[in-house]
Amino acid sequence: MEAKKYPTQFPHGLMFHRVHREVSSPSGQGSITDKEFEHILCYVGIENILSSDEWLYKLKHNKLNANNVCITFDDGLKCQYDICLPILEKYNIRAFWFVYSSVFEGKWEKFQIYSYFGTKYFSNVNEFFNLFLSRCEESLLDQLNGHKFKRYAQETQILSPFYSINDLKFRFLRNELLSKEEFENIIDKIIEDRGVILQEIAKNLWLSNQELKILSEKGHCIGLHSYDHPWQLSALPYQEQLNEYARNYNHVKRICNKEITAMSHPINSYNTLTLKVLSQLGIVCGFRSNMVPPIGKKINPSLLEIAREDPANILRNNINF
Ligand SMILES: [Zn+2]
Repeated sequence: MEAKKYPTQFPHGLMFHRVHREVSSPSGQGSITDKEFEHILCYVGIENILSSDEWLYKLKHNKLNANNVCITFDDGLKCQYDICLPILEKYNIRAFWFVYSSVFEGKWEKFQIYSYFGTKYFSNVNEFFNLFLSRCEESLLDQLNGHKFKRYAQETQILSPFYSINDLKFRFLRNELLSKEEFENIIDKIIEDRGVILQEIAKNLWLSNQELKILSEKGHCIGLHSYDHPWQLSALPYQEQLNEYARNYNHVKRICNKEITAMSHPINSYNTLTLKVLSQLGIVCGFRSNMVPPIGKKINPSLLEIAREDPANILRNNINF
């Protein structure tokens, strides 16, 4: 592999979600392979990657350098533990694991189940998107020709240039046109038609409390990511935001029995009330979900708003991997 340098101008995290083994079927957007994960670590530079404890120490003492990077995992997924943990251990790196608590209590969150289903049970993600589109009513599909979709696509592609046109259509229908119930009815029917049982998928999707405890005991940092991962946390009133993070805090504290000082914002959704809630809970390090400064602010404007890079962008810019 050509030794090209990873450009860093400010300290930030790398934000990982779903991962899969290279031997398995292609998993489309949103999932990277074990090999890609290791390549990304090497490309970024093992010497630039700080373990979570070192990152927090330097952050608190204002000693982070522009080239400092840390590894973060969102959503508490089992694949992260199974696939990435051995690679992290090979390089002696401890990471941040930001978990939301509802799934540890058996309350499945359908978004992750759907995402897994869409990539695991189709030969490629476009096949899934096409089936989804074919299940939507004509009147909805007509709106994909309108200017509202055009504007949505343009705005979304600025932050996530790796989304395909089908991906954009899918997200637009889900986020802007369908109600949660309508969306879930369509997907649940597709899952049922495939003869797949929702419970079977859910069973192995998320970390268990036992695995969370093991990670913590190995020196990794377990942090907050809300209680049940709302679509738009910033739309909630103060008390509900506090509830989201306090329940999450209590769960992680009960399992790990350590000081909790880090978090990441689910779907990058937060406002000044959220930052207040987090400060009240003693959180000192919070991560955003992109490398773009919040509107009207500089990059990394506060310790609770630190930038993170999506590895999909790194892969996109380094297709030689
Ligand atoms: Zn998340």
